[in-house]
Amino acid sequence: MRLENKVTIITGAGSGIGRETALLFAKEGARVVVADVNEKAGEETAAEIKKNGGDGYFAKLDVSNRAEIKQVVRDALEKYGTIDVLINNAGIIQDALVLKMTEEQWDRVINVDLKGVFNCIQAVVEVMINQGNGVIINTSSIVGLNGNVGQVNYAAAKAGLIGMTKTLAKELGKKGIRVNAIAPGFIMTPMTSNVPEKILEMMREKTPLRRLGEPVDVAYAYLYLASDEAKFINGAVLCVDGGLII
Ligand code: NAP
Repeated sequence: MRLENKVTIITGAGSGIGRETALLFAKEGARVVVADVNEKAGEETAAEIKKNGGDGYFAKLDVSNRAEIKQVVRDALEKYGTIDVLINNAGIIQDALVLKMTEEQWDRVINVDLKGVFNCIQAVVEVMINQGNGVIINTSSIVGLNGNVGQVNYAAAKAGLIGMTKTLAKELGKKGIRVNAIAPGFIMTPMTSNVPEKILEMMREKTPLRRLGEPVDVAYAYLYLASDEAKFINGAVLCVDGGLII
């Protein structure tokens, strides 16, 4: 058990990478708060955790709503007493070329993918400071490092998370809190399910490992960064992309 009794809030844990991570963390002994805006999906993840003998429950959360995240943190503290790990995994895309992107598309992605992370961190940071320890993991993307046509809003948000991660690693390190980011490459989840087969094949060919990522590939990266094995890792950005952007 690499996360015995570690109370972990995972946002966007109803689907894709977050779901796989919630199941893996529970298997490794974590107490998982499955936080998601999608009630049905979140309840399903929580039910799966319990079916497997793990400890966790669903908490309804829209990360762009500051009152909701405060409530999720209060409830988790009441139930478990600490918050050891926060995984800021929730994210959305609303793609368009720059000339066609609406202000709404820009604002929504920035609000969820960038400000949503800030909201969640602010809601847990005082608890972690008082505990004298904590782990925060932000989910960036290789798009935040390299850019991608049609994703100016998403690339800005995901690049912003890298600046946020490095700043908070400096601010919070002395308080015993580690802050890191992961940058997944192309991972097969509902978020990427509409990508045409031709593009998928091109991505496979461009990837040195000659395959696309699975949610579990990212879940293991989160697991490492959350565990005590990574206790000297702070301010890092770990690419999980099969070597796509080297
Ligand atoms: P996913 O399958 O779409 O899952 C995301 C989950 O987050 C969904 O359950 C979604 O609910 C929920 N969510 C959406 N908006 C939310 C909000 N405001 N508050 C709370 N939860 C919200 O996505 P994924 O592919 O697993 O992606 C997980 C993270 O990895 C994201 O941050 C994404 O940007 C990042 N990432 C993914 C890839 C990839 O190739 N898949 C690559 C790089 C980075 P709904 O279903 O109702 O929207």
